[in-house]
Amino acid sequence: IGNLYIVATPIGNLQDITQRALTIFSEVDLIAAEDTRHSGLLLNYYGIKKAFFSLHDHNEQQRTALLVDKLKQGMNVALISDAGTPLISDPGFHLVRKCRQEGIKVIPLPGACAAISALCVSGIASDRFCFEGFLPAKEKARCDRLKNLAKEDRTLIFYESTHRILNTLVDMEKIFGAERYIVLAREMTKTWESVHGDCLGDLRKWLEEEPNRIKGEIVLVVEGKTSSEEQEISPQAEKALRLIAQELP
Ligand code: SAM
Repeated sequence: IGNLYIVATPIGNLQDITQRALTIFSEVDLIAAEDTRHSGLLLNYYGIKKAFFSLHDHNEQQRTALLVDKLKQGMNVALISDAGTPLISDPGFHLVRKCRQEGIKVIPLPGACAAISALCVSGIASDRFCFEGFLPAKEKARCDRLKNLAKEDRTLIFYESTHRILNTLVDMEKIFGAERYIVLAREMTKTWESVHGDCLGDLRKWLEEEPNRIKGEIVLVVEGKTSSEEQEISPQAEKALRLIAQELP
């Protein structure tokens, strides 16, 4: 019986691959990937040639049975996604669940993940956080989800796309309040990487001023709801404190 390896790949910078991932790629019999053409380019970059098996959001349930058969026949399989860690807003959950039910060993090869990278540079509390992935595309469903999160005191992390970011910020401002602090981490590990933090109202205005500021891949890190005591500090005072804090040694 073979092993299933869950292998993280870079989220932009191709050097963010681990030595162990490269070793496993060269040793396995098969690489299950979302977009085999895209992953072909990635492996080509590392000089690895391997058979691919396509497994994406729309075929995962049917393809899982086939892959489990191959694992039972003794094939070793690596699962990768287009970027970052498989299963994190990416396919793989059904496959991993089935493998564990069938007694197939599932082995993690950790690496890049956009949510964790953004959290680590946000300056927002990282001791307790909720990963919320993508919000629903439709306004009503998105607002309902945000309303459920309005009282959450842990840090919130969202994935967002360029064409929905402004609508999402409008909804967040309505539901979380214009004063809630947010960090937008864009194009991490790539040429145009930027990390910008402000209160929701000002961040939205800042983005509207310059369309280039919303281009590319985006993670939003939102401060959790603070206690009533802390809320008594006005947003202006909080912003001033932040600026002063930045200047401190
Ligand atoms: N599995 C991936 C991971 O571990 O982060 C996430 C895949 S999800 C389909 C793609 C989303 O992740 C993008 O829309 C964006 O929100 C976020 N993302 C991926 N790469 C990013 C990067 N380099 N900078 C900022 N966000 C990124």
